[in-house]
Amino acid sequence: MYDIIVVGAGPAGLTAALYARRAEKSVLVIEKDTFGGQITHSPRVENYPGFLVMSGNELADKLIEQVMTQGAEIDLDKVTGIEGEPGCYTVACESGKRHDAKSVIIASGSHHRQLGIEGENNFVGEGISYCAVCDGAFYKGKCVAVIGGGNSALQDAVLLSESCESVTVVQNLAYLTGESSLVKILEGRNNVSFIYSSVVKDIISKDGVFSGIAIENTESGIKQTLDFDGMFVAIGQVPENEPFRSVTELNDYGYIRSGESCVPEGAKAGIFVAGDCRTKSVRQVTTATADGAVAALAACRFIDSL
Ligand SMILES: Cc1cc2nc3c(=O)[nH]c(=O)nc-3n(C[C@H](O)[C@H](O)[C@H](O)COP(=O)(O)OP(=O)(O)OC[C@H]3O[C@@H](n4cnc5c(N)ncnc54)[C@H](O)[C@@H]3O)c2cc1C
Repeated sequence: MYDIIVVGAGPAGLTAALYARRAEKSVLVIEKDTFGGQITHSPRVENYPGFLVMSGNELADKLIEQVMTQGAEIDLDKVTGIEGEPGCYTVACESGKRHDAKSVIIASGSHHRQLGIEGENNFVGEGISYCAVCDGAFYKGKCVAVIGGGNSALQDAVLLSESCESVTVVQNLAYLTGESSLVKILEGRNNVSFIYSSVVKDIISKDGVFSGIAIENTESGIKQTLDFDGMFVAIGQVPENEPFRSVTELNDYGYIRSGESCVPEGAKAGIFVAGDCRTKSVRQVTTATADGAVAALAACRFIDSL
């Protein structure tokens, strides 16, 4: 039996493994897809303290090396469920393997909802971004579109309007759904404009470089092509928490309910949560790694109390 099983090898899960190993606990990290998590999609990270600039892959590689040097075990598999009681949990995987642990840290992350249009993945980090906090600085003095009309999109638009030449908010509905205070701020900025009842149909590129989007008005059917240097898609995030319903409570959006303690509300003792998969207001590498440390130390305390 392992002391701790960590579900997910993103920044939160890997940091949890690092802290748990340094406390001399046996640790298995199970990752279903990409070791390093979402950050591996970013070609340029400029806001991780201590590093001026590096790619997401470089950051992930360093984290994985650090965790493996400390002696954590790593397995490529998808966790499909967790069962058991405090001090003795069984983690079931898609491969049919079952692993036992005294404590489990869920660090399954989330992913940004994509538009689902052709070629979208080819321009991620090269014209298309899902995170204004992460990538806004790369578009200083440029013209960008923000897709979406909810709070996240409007917050992104506020942030981008402070450094971009122009920001065009493209919303699929005839109205914005974000808070009126954000709408007021944006309406007061002369570099911000709004396009309503319109959906993105195509990405336009010149010589392989992102150069704009084609949109269609859902009421009139009229299509138009707009030039942009970049597009920020803010149409929601999708957490990956369905396999954990048996041991935690999810909110209406599928996030595990938890505060800074990383102890999920309503969960059995010995179950902890870290990173983007929990309810929180800032989803970044720094906040994910902070959670990883908090969750691991809480798990260590739990194990020591058994
Ligand atoms: C394009 C892009 C650019 C970004 N740029 C920045 C930036 O510049 N700076 C910054 O701070 N943040 C940035 N972010 C955000 C940052 O990547 C996330 O906040 C961070 O990765 C969250 O870490 P996490 O470990 O909580 O989750 P994730 O990184 O999502 O990792 C979770 C891992 O769990 C795995 N997993 C999920 N379910 C299961 C399961 N059932 N079984 C096994 N494994 C599972 C997933 O495959 C994934 O690898 C960016 C995000 C994207 C998408």
